[in-house]
Amino acid sequence: MEMSKEKLYEFIEKNKVGFIRLQFTDINGTMKNVEIPADEIDSALSSGIMFDGSSVEGFARLHESDMYLKPDLRTVAMLPWTFDGRRSARIICDVYNNPETPFEGDPRYRLRLVEEKARKMGFIPYAGPEVEFFILPRANGRPVFEFLDNGSYFDLLPVDIAEDIRTEVSVHLEEMGIDVETTHHEVAPSQHEVDFRYAEPIVAADNVQTVKLVIKTLAIRNNLYATFMPKPFFGVNGSGMHVHMSLFTLDGKNAFYDETAPDGISQTMKYFIGGLIAHAREITAVTNPTVNSYKRLVPGYEAPVNIAWSKGNRTALIRIPKARGKATRLEYRAPDPSCNPYLAFAVILAAGLNGIENKIEAPMAVEENIYKMTEAEKQKRGINKLPANLKEALIEAEKSKLVREVLGEHVWEKFLTLKEREWWEYSTNVSEWERKRYENI
Ligand code: GLU
Ligand code: MG
Ligand code: MG
Repeated sequence: MEMSKEKLYEFIEKNKVGFIRLQFTDINGTMKNVEIPADEIDSALSSGIMFDGSSVEGFARLHESDMYLKPDLRTVAMLPWTFDGRRSARIICDVYNNPETPFEGDPRYRLRLVEEKARKMGFIPYAGPEVEFFILPRANGRPVFEFLDNGSYFDLLPVDIAEDIRTEVSVHLEEMGIDVETTHHEVAPSQHEVDFRYAEPIVAADNVQTVKLVIKTLAIRNNLYATFMPKPFFGVNGSGMHVHMSLFTLDGKNAFYDETAPDGISQTMKYFIGGLIAHAREITAVTNPTVNSYKRLVPGYEAPVNIAWSKGNRTALIRIPKARGKATRLEYRAPDPSCNPYLAFAVILAAGLNGIENKIEAPMAVEENIYKMTEAEKQKRGINKLPANLKEALIEAEKSKLVREVLGEHVWEKFLTLKEREWWEYSTNVSEWERKRYENI
């Protein structure tokens, strides 16, 4: 909701706001913040708050390090917890090079550009993420990788602390203006999910960041640890962040729905699917940016491996939920919560729009369990695979015109450098698994 300056002053007054946290997100998807006393908000609004960009991952170079935060008044909310009895508000900010020019490396700005492109094509895009995570015990400030419960999908556990946290999360998010649709225990022990109402992609990405912050903070306040790591346990379902997407026309009709088509799916949606399938391998480094992401993308755990779409089955990369009419949408199942949601939504949306622009035909839908298909069958049907590891994904991203354009030169370069380093560190490290396996050679 847009808030005028006057409304903001009233809000500060009414809620006795002492301090305001100005938040933004770095290239890795980590939320950053700087706190200002509430009476400094006036100067923050007129000229932005200056900060040292060279100390933020993937932002400015040393010689041009002064950057500005411009508070986005649609994101004003009270933080639900108190610090020594004081309450603070938060405002999410856009990053600027100087008070006039947006910083081309700000992930929020990259997403804004793709949203604008969609509008120019006559569409209002919507995104609805589903955030999965584990709540684990905590010791010495770190998670302990042991289960807290034996729950499974939709379980209702007697006297479960994590269940209380889930409820508390919903209450707090509602207070902060996020419409929670469902929260539930997920398939794996100690695994949970929070789904909130779809919104324009920037709002949805802001919401992901807020949801993660609220869940992490509440877990810590209960002496537990929430982790959004994609695959914390071998042999157990990992945590995904499925993204539902739809396009509406400027006059408010769902452009993915065609009531005259036997399956209700419009040609626009089919091209969008075609675009996503054509670019899936290229965008995976952005939607699944960690070494650990690829340990989730293996057969048998409801995570996608093969590049296909389907109306029902959860082994496909793209699933079309049953709902039609205004609720017609697709579910892109690759992303996981280690991604930067701004950049991930930007590449997913751009890939779909590219399909519409270039009329890329979607292949035939695949309704069988793809995990069970032989390689020969998959080959015959032209079903390709997602990258098997971060390195493979980076090679695809580096070759991709679309990824380079969407991320912009600055993020593209920094992202690849950071991620190549991460891959090198991982692949040259010697793990416990290796020592056990090879100690007797
Ligand atoms: N946890 C599964 C994943 O890694 C998804 C389960 C579901 O369909 O919600 O994607
Ligand atoms: Mg789920
Ligand atoms: Mg889902």
